[in-house]
Amino acid sequence: MHLQSFGAACTVTGSMHLLTLNTAGGERHVLVDCGLFQGADELEARNHEPFPFEAQDLDAVILTHAHLDHVGRLPLLVRRGYRGAVYCTAPTAALAETVLLDSARLQVEGYRQALRRARRQGREDEVLPPLYEEDDVHRTLALLRPHLEFGKTTKVADLKVTPERAGHILGSAWLLMETPDARLIMSGDLGNRESGLQLDFTPPPAADAVVLETTYANRTHRPWAQTLEEFAGALRTSIRAGGKILIPSFAIERAQVILYTLKDLMNRGEVPHIPVFMDSPMAMRATYEYFEFGDELITPVREALQSGEDPFRPSTLHVVNTSAESQRLNRYDGPAIIMAGNGMMTGGRIQHHLKHHLWKPSTSLIIVSYQSPSSLGGRIVEGAETVRLMGEEVAVRAQVHTIGGFSAHADRDDLLAFLDTAGKPHVWLVHGETSVMSSFLPVLEQHGMKGDIVPDRQKVDLLGPGFAGGQPPGLVVDTQADPHQTTAE
Ligand SMILES: [Zn+2]
Repeated sequence: MHLQSFGAACTVTGSMHLLTLNTAGGERHVLVDCGLFQGADELEARNHEPFPFEAQDLDAVILTHAHLDHVGRLPLLVRRGYRGAVYCTAPTAALAETVLLDSARLQVEGYRQALRRARRQGREDEVLPPLYEEDDVHRTLALLRPHLEFGKTTKVADLKVTPERAGHILGSAWLLMETPDARLIMSGDLGNRESGLQLDFTPPPAADAVVLETTYANRTHRPWAQTLEEFAGALRTSIRAGGKILIPSFAIERAQVILYTLKDLMNRGEVPHIPVFMDSPMAMRATYEYFEFGDELITPVREALQSGEDPFRPSTLHVVNTSAESQRLNRYDGPAIIMAGNGMMTGGRIQHHLKHHLWKPSTSLIIVSYQSPSSLGGRIVEGAETVRLMGEEVAVRAQVHTIGGFSAHADRDDLLAFLDTAGKPHVWLVHGETSVMSSFLPVLEQHGMKGDIVPDRQKVDLLGPGFAGGQPPGLVVDTQADPHQTTAE
C-alpha cells in the first residue's frame, strides 16, 4: 500500500493523497481528498499545476469533509477528465455544494479583477484563467456518491472503507481502509474534543498504519468553559463601550458555533440581548444543513432541534441577505453585533463594516479564528495602527479581542487520545507545518510509536520497513496558511 501526497504534505492546505494498492485485480488508485492550496501566493500557484497523475486513471475519490482545502480542486479534477465516483457522507455532499459554488464564484471574480488590473498595465497575457467555473462544479456535484455512513463498510476499488466520526465539522469522517492483509487509517481532519457543536471523534480500532493530520500537534487548546467565559467577557466589555461589535466569521462551522454560543449566553443572562446581524448568505445556507443533519450534533443542540427550537437563532438575530441591506447597516444606530465573512478579513462584506467602524474607539473587533500573519486580520492582531481597506487608509482605534479557543482542530492531547486505541501503528504525519510535525515525532516516540513525516510528492510504502525520515526533500514550508481560515469555513 503506497501513499503519495500532492498537497497537505509539509504544509496544511491542498489535501490530496493518492493511495496505490496492489490487488488481485491489479493496481488500484484511490484519491483521498482533492483540496485547494490556500495562503501565500507561491502556494496558491500550485493549484494551477498539472496533476502528477492522469485524472481518468483514478479508480475512485473519497472525501473526508467539505472544507475547501479538502474539496476545492475537485472541479478541476473533473475538468481534467475524471468521471468516476466521489464517495463521501451525506452532510459532506450537502456542504460541498455550497463550498464549491462559492469557490467557483470567487475564482471567476478574482480572474475578472486581475484581468482589469493587468489590462491597465498591458500585461493581460500573464493572468491565469479561473481554475474552474460554475458548470464544472455542477458536473462535479453529479459525481458525488453521498453513501458513506458512519460505522458502515463500503467497497471502494477493492478496498473496504469504513468512515467514522472525526468530530471536526459537520459530516467529517476519518477512514478505516482495509485490504485482506492490512489496515490503514486516514485521519482527515480531527476535531477538538471540546468542540462547540460536534460529537467527539470515534476512537479507531488497531491498525497497521495511521496517516495523521498534525495542524495543532504542538499545542493544547484552552478548555471550552474558559473560552465561553472569555468570549462573554469580551462581549460585555464591548457592549459597555457602546459601539458596533464586529465578529469576522467563516461560513461553515464557525458561524454556527458563534450563533449557538451567542444564543446560549444571552439565554443564560451572561450577555445582554442586543441585535445580532448575520451578514453572510453563505453562512445561512450552511446553517440549513446543520438543521438537516442535526442528529450529528452534540446532545443539547440535537434536543433543541428535536423540540422545534432553532439553536442557531438568538432572539435578536437579523439575517442580512442582499449587499444593499448590508450597506444599509452602516447607518444603523446603537450597539449591535455584526457577523460577516470572511474570517481573516481579506475579502467579503466584513471589509466595508471595518472601513466604517474600525477607526472608532467605541467599536470592538472580536476575533474568533486564526489569522495568518499576512492577512488583514493578522496585521490588526499584531497592532497595525492603520490598515488599507477598499482603497483607503483606515486607523485602527477599535478595541481588539482575540479568543483562541474556538478551534475545530484536534490539539496534541486529542491526537494522542486518537492514537491511543490504534495499537501502536506506524504514524505518517501530514497536514502540518514541518516544524510542528518535527516536534511531534519525539512525542510519538515517548508513547512507543514510530512516526515519519510524509514527504511532498514522494511515494512512501505505508507498510514497509519505515521511511528513513528526517527532513524530506522538496520541502514546502507554509508558515502562513491555516487550513480553515478561508472563505469556506
Ligand atoms: Zn478541515
